[in-house]
Amino acid sequence: MDLYEYQARELLQEKDVPIPEGIFASTVEEAVQAANTIGYPCVLKAQVRIGHRGQAGGVKIVHDEDEARFMSEHILGMTIHGHKVRGLLVVEAASILHEYYVSISVDRSSRDYDVLATAAGGTEVEEIAKEHPEFVKRLHINPLDDFDINAAEKMAQEIGFHHADTSQAAHILLEMWKVFIENDATLVEINPLAKVGIPDDEASKHLMALDAKISLDSNAAFRHDGWSRFATSYGHDELEAQAAQLGLHYVHLDGNVGVIGNGAGLVMSSIDAVADAGQDFDPKIKPANFLDIGGGASAQLMAQSLDIVMSDPQVKSVFINVYGGITSCKQVAQGIIEAVDKLIQNGTTLCDIVVRFDGNEATEGLTILDNAHHDNIHVAQTMDSAAEEAVNIAARILNCESK
Ligand code: GDP
Ligand code: MN
Repeated sequence: MDLYEYQARELLQEKDVPIPEGIFASTVEEAVQAANTIGYPCVLKAQVRIGHRGQAGGVKIVHDEDEARFMSEHILGMTIHGHKVRGLLVVEAASILHEYYVSISVDRSSRDYDVLATAAGGTEVEEIAKEHPEFVKRLHINPLDDFDINAAEKMAQEIGFHHADTSQAAHILLEMWKVFIENDATLVEINPLAKVGIPDDEASKHLMALDAKISLDSNAAFRHDGWSRFATSYGHDELEAQAAQLGLHYVHLDGNVGVIGNGAGLVMSSIDAVADAGQDFDPKIKPANFLDIGGGASAQLMAQSLDIVMSDPQVKSVFINVYGGITSCKQVAQGIIEAVDKLIQNGTTLCDIVVRFDGNEATEGLTILDNAHHDNIHVAQTMDSAAEEAVNIAARILNCESK
């Protein structure tokens, strides 16, 4: 579960990681009032669970009430990389002298925790790592080892904080570690961890977390009262909520090809196949969602699934990938046809669907679909060719150029 910045800040603040004063607002009026309370200049920040907000125009400094009103209206009307902005964080503006990047995350490949830091913060760490890998320092913490101030200081030194910042950086690292462990987080990222203050006044200079990104391990929710404190109705993904009510495992992503499959592994592979085929286009075509319909693929379940996937206005084509086990692909094919008919009756505008079957009665299932002669349903023989076809359809509609 990813937290919004304003929520992540709460967890940092509980552990005394220094953050600028901030107020959350969900309407223009609230934002203007918050800006007046904080004082000018202040920074308005779109609250969406995705990075690169700054580059997308979702982070703006304002200098007076008029500007605050104008900018909050503008930002609250934005959709950033497919995420509608429903809230704003108003924070006091800091004068930044330097930007660092620090994160602690679970490293699945080395089965430990990974502290990543660079003195060249600000932009996304992936970009820094690509251009200047020597600037990015990485340290592993064995989950069984204790992490104390000595370890944090050693780490801050190795990580390359500028001399004067090392001691405060060590304290912040230690506090981030506590946030990470005590909240069962999988990621605690501060970017930028900024050195702020007045250039000629050494005593005024200190480090501050100007952005915060925290992901919590959903498997640990039971240990934290279900994290009910973070379950605001605000910004709740409506499609995800709808799907959850139907008992479907749906995760909303930011692309144009809907993906439906049975079994989490198969759905993940389908997502990869779409992402892979989508790389051949500019801009890239990406998967729009994860949707696992589980074992039984009844017509009703298929109709509900297609309905949810196609309710996403970004979806331009759908890839259905089913492995027939106990459920025969013949039944699934029947289900798809009934679902499509049902949706057409309900007046849903259908986009093209590409179906790939494997396993129990796969050939028979595809034949049923073929013989139905539905304009919207296409069949494919392999996972890769199906993903490719679905991507090509979306690319054509979106006028993407092939590379
Ligand atoms: P992100 O783009 O989603 O990572 O959003 P951030 O919160 O990291 O903001 C993007 C960039 O805006 C930061 O890297 C800073 O350079 C800048 N920024 C954020 N807050 C302030 C501030 O208080 N003062 C100034 N001058 N710049 C800020
Ligand atoms: Mn940031």
